[in-house]
Amino acid sequence: MGIDIGHFLTEVKKATRGQALPVVDLIAVQTEDPFKVLVATILSARTKDETTAASSKRLFARAQTAEELTELSEEELQKLIYPVGFYKNKAGYLKKLPEALKEFKGVVPETMTELLRLPGVGRKTANLVLSIAFKKPAICVDTHVHRIMNIWGYVETATPLKTEMALREKLPEEFWIPVNSLLVSLGQSICRPVSPRCSECPLEKECPQLGITPRKATLKAKKNTPSYRYISWNVNGIRAVEKKGFIDIVQELNPDVIGLQETKAQPEQLSESLKNIPGYTSYWYSAQRKGYSGVAFYSKHEPLQVIYGIGAEEFDCEGRVITLEFADHYLATIYFPNSADQLKRLDYKLRFNRALLAFFQKLEKEKAVILCGDFNVAHKEIDLKNPKSNVKNAGFTPEERAWMDEFLEAGYTDTFRLFNQDPENYSWWSYRFSARSKNIGWRIDYFCVSENGQKRIVNAEILPEVMGSDHCPVLLDFKQ
Ligand code: SF4
Repeated sequence: MGIDIGHFLTEVKKATRGQALPVVDLIAVQTEDPFKVLVATILSARTKDETTAASSKRLFARAQTAEELTELSEEELQKLIYPVGFYKNKAGYLKKLPEALKEFKGVVPETMTELLRLPGVGRKTANLVLSIAFKKPAICVDTHVHRIMNIWGYVETATPLKTEMALREKLPEEFWIPVNSLLVSLGQSICRPVSPRCSECPLEKECPQLGITPRKATLKAKKNTPSYRYISWNVNGIRAVEKKGFIDIVQELNPDVIGLQETKAQPEQLSESLKNIPGYTSYWYSAQRKGYSGVAFYSKHEPLQVIYGIGAEEFDCEGRVITLEFADHYLATIYFPNSADQLKRLDYKLRFNRALLAFFQKLEKEKAVILCGDFNVAHKEIDLKNPKSNVKNAGFTPEERAWMDEFLEAGYTDTFRLFNQDPENYSWWSYRFSARSKNIGWRIDYFCVSENGQKRIVNAEILPEVMGSDHCPVLLDFKQ
């Protein structure tokens, strides 16, 4: 039986009462002027509420109308709205806005189709403007609404757009406007994208909690040792995971560096939001074949050097390795080949493994090496649910496991097993047969550290509560 949505939203309203209003509501409380609501909404994308509020205030002190906006140059606009996310792009949109509004006699239009014709206005912004400025029935579905409605099982959808369409069918109209503010508030405070705080949630006993694992104390525990927090995640398509809240997840996990695998995109296919997550510089290495393989890094720290590939065309054309050189260690993100059906690529994979180890053994002579990524192999029987039935399958063949033995004998540490010897800790689950909810999985994503870096390993974890891909992220804290 489904949930009682009216009851759920009433409980959310009670639980989030007294919290700061989401910024666009705040502006709506202060002004009913659709122009200001539109501008503030454009500024609010990928920006903290306090920053949007301060930038809007500065801008409105100089320009209250579209006409007044024309008086400002793009450079002035940039200065006024800085530091909102993507301030250069947004200043460009604002510069073009007065001209675009002429089509609508200089006023903000009141329909979705017309709003979408304005610069910098996507579906989410248009829905917010319709609901807040014009009080029209519109459902603004952002990542919080999409995620929480799926956790509740109220919809079963893959993207925010599909969620919006499903909600239009079944959500009673009285909730269309308030649902965004309520779920943004809940998503920012209790039902967070990473490790929801179910024990603090009034819905804990009734919520189906689909696909989530409540917060673990360990992830949040502050380490006494100053350390770098590194995360590795096979995202199985960066553009797909972007729609499932990837940027919010990165910002909440807040790693020093995150290494990705299976990005499956060429740089020109990436959105500006993906290329420029505030606070991070990104590095991308794509396969020549479109939509296949590919790795990336987002780093808060500027590396001394970025090395793309391992110097062997046979492997580098598949975009499988990026290495960042820091002052006292190297960090590499790696997408190991899959041996594939009938082990057609087993030989290729074993050649890759050998070339990779030789490459890093050279670097290891200078400083510690950390290798993270999807190794595409479960090392021991404890590392997968059904070892017996998988002995001849890709990822658990004797050859692949023997290479893992050889790799560890060469001095590398499988960091997760330093801290956890328990079975049923997995990092990948098939999309089929509800494997993730039954925890029928494999541990194939690793952080491995060379012998000369072992003393700096502080903590290693798997983060199964983080959704968005068929893999979950893994984590390493490495002493500074
Ligand atoms: S998943 Fe947890 S935090 Fe989120 S709504 Fe359900 S009980 Fe509340």
